[in-house]
This record gives sequence, structure tokens and C-alpha cells, in this order.
Amino acid sequence: MNEQKIIEDLKATFQELYGGEPDGVFFAPGRVNLIGEHTDYNGGHVFPCALSMGTYAAARKREDNRVRLASMNKGKATVEELTLEDANKPKKDRWTDYPIGVIAAFAANGNEIPTGLEVVFFGNVPAGSGLSSSASLEVVMGIVLRTLYGLDDVRQVDLALLGQQAECDYVGMQCGIMDQFASAMGRKDTAMFLDVNTMECEYAPLDLPGMKIVITNSGVKHQLASSEYNVRRAECESALEDLKKVKPSLKSLGELSVAEFEEIADHIRDAVERKRAKHAVYENARTVKAFNALKEQGNIEEFGRLMNESHDSLQNDYEVSCPEIDFLVKEGRKIEGVIGTRITGGGFGGCTVSIVKDEAIDEFKTRLTEAYEKEFGVTPEFYVAEPGDGAKILEKK
Ligand code: ADP
Ligand code: MG
Repeated sequence: MNEQKIIEDLKATFQELYGGEPDGVFFAPGRVNLIGEHTDYNGGHVFPCALSMGTYAAARKREDNRVRLASMNKGKATVEELTLEDANKPKKDRWTDYPIGVIAAFAANGNEIPTGLEVVFFGNVPAGSGLSSSASLEVVMGIVLRTLYGLDDVRQVDLALLGQQAECDYVGMQCGIMDQFASAMGRKDTAMFLDVNTMECEYAPLDLPGMKIVITNSGVKHQLASSEYNVRRAECESALEDLKKVKPSLKSLGELSVAEFEEIADHIRDAVERKRAKHAVYENARTVKAFNALKEQGNIEEFGRLMNESHDSLQNDYEVSCPEIDFLVKEGRKIEGVIGTRITGGGFGGCTVSIVKDEAIDEFKTRLTEAYEKEFGVTPEFYVAEPGDGAKILEKK
């Protein structure tokens, strides 16, 4: 569906639910991470790009304190009746926690939202698939609030930080900054090499001559993700505590080189935690290497090799993959013209990301579809990634 049609549908639904016209229409993208998985909350590097798919919102300010939210992705869109007060109450374990969490995060940072609003959302990035529909929902809510209430001191990067805060503090998912950063700060046709310690971001043109980034959706929703994600984070923190006993200056696993880690790894008492820390350190090193391979040498073969290593580490050491994803990766690697393929996103389902030569894309899709249907009775979906811009205003009165 093209963007104009989405905007029309959104405004028609807005009219139906709330009457009249919205004050504005907004968009924030999902993202795909090329390499650097589970490194963002470990003080390392990530290398995502924003997608052209994401979450749209049509919104209007109210005079009272009612917050009326609807999503076209929830069957026939119905209005969820909330108030600004809900941002001070515990979460409800519903999708509305994300936008309400953003209102709470704005307030916690000195931007109390003064009056209510009504919003309709529509997302065309598959939810629960590791392409960060949640971050796109948070970040689009952020740009809605900034614009409607004239909060000009909220910078674009703050939209990312406030979205992350909503997800960590309100929703209770201890995520790093990558997803929201990509959603807020993305740029067309580029990937972002982000150092999460300094928040320094280098934009790298995604120049992949004769090949494309292909996303394959396994159809497995990562339900386990939030609980296991928090467990992984705790395991890494515990490993870090053990390492601090021999290296008191250490602040994050991302600071360690592979050699430094190997020298002191034995001090991590728990074998499982040692594996988790190993992934964090090696994955960070791989991400730096992959970025340099692409940027300095245009060495896409090396980039692909590192993507493959990343998957193996996530499968075996970090243990966040699942049989369906491992199957897609294994089958994909059998196809000539597949430069690299790995799980992307938090894990436990979701999508793989692959770099595939143009002439191999058809074969990639048909062979994976056949094999996956035969093995799991499910048809995978494919998207060719089009790296797009970060959060933006599409229309404003
Ligand atoms: P991911 O971010 O990988 O897509 P998450 O589990 O983090 O997966 O977030 C998915 C959740 O975000 C959904 O279950 C839903 O609660 C919420 N969500 C995302 N997009 C929308 C939308 N357009 N409308 C309503 N809820 C949404
Ligand atoms: Mg998410």
C-alpha cells in the first residue's frame, strides 16, 4: 500500500472515530539490524537501518484530559478511553501501554503533557517480528506529542531516549537504545553505525552493488522475548560484576577487546553467564569489523561472513534463536548468491536478515518457502529492505 493511501485511510478512520480532521499525520519507521545484536545494552556498537515500513499516527489535541487511542491493526479500530492520569498508574499489559508510557516519559523529563489528545495508529511493519514495531509506535507517539504541544526543546535524539524510557520504565522491557535510535534518527539509503556509550553515530551509505537486504519473517512471534531479554540483560550484568573484581575500572562489556576478555573470562564464575558475556564482547568486535569492512574496503563478502558468525554466536552462546529461524539460516546458506544470513532483532522468533545477490533473490524466496512450508507448515514472508528516514511529520494543519 502506498503512503498516500495509508494517510487517506488513517484520516477516514480518524473522522469515523473522533469526527473532523486531525491536527497532523506522523510516521516513525521500524528498523532492521544488520549486525550487532544484544550489544546495545552492553555498551557496544550496533549497525541498524530504518525501514520504509513503520507506524503512522493521525492525532489531535483535546481541551480536557482524556486520551483516546485507537489502532487500525487491532481488527476494527475501536477507541480505548484513557486519561492523562493513566500515565501515573501501572501498565495494563495492553498495546496502549506504549503510547501511555511515552506520555509518562515526557512528564518524567519535565514535559508534562497539559491536555489530552486523540490518536489513530496504523502500522505496516509486522508486530512482534523483531523489526521493532514497538519502537516505531513509541517514537511516532513522541513526535505527535512534540508537535501538538509545541515542545521544541525535545530534540530528535530525545524522541529515541524518551521512547526507550517508555519501554524500559513503563512497559518493563529492559531494551537498549538501538531500536528507538534507528526509528528517530534514520536516514534514507544509509545504515547507522552507533556507539551506544557515546551516542555517536556514523551514517554509512548502504552501497550494495548488485545485491539487496532481504528480510524473511518466520511467522514466529517472539512472545518469550521480553522475559528472556530481561534475563539476558541480568546475566550480562552479573558477568560484568565478576569481571569488575579483577578490572575495577570496567564499566561495560563493550569496552573489552576479545583478547582482554579471554584473559579474564575465567573470573566469570557461572558457565552460562560466561557464554553470554562472550557473545557480547565478540559481537561488538564483529560489528566494528563489519562496519570497517563495508566502509573502508567495500568488502561485502567479509561483511557477510561476520553476519554468519553473528548468527552462530546468537544461536549457541547467547541462545536467543529458535528452530524455525535456525532452519531459515541453514537453508539460506545453501543457496549460491547468499552473502550472509542471520537472525535479527531480540530473538526467539521474528525475522532473519540476509544479503542476497539480485540474481539469487527469486531462488532464495522459492527455495526457502518450499523448504519452510514442508518443515513447519507455515509460509514465510519476504521484504526487500528499503532503508528510509527517521520519524517525521507527514501533514500538519
Ligand atoms: P517488535 O517491536 O519486534 O515488533 P514487540 O513485542 O516489542 O515486538 O512489540 C509488539 C507490540 O507493540 C504489539 O504486541 C503491540 O502491543 C504493540 N504495537 C506495535 N505496533 C502497534 C500498532 N500499530 N497498533 C497497536 N499496537 C502496536
Ligand atoms: Mg520491540
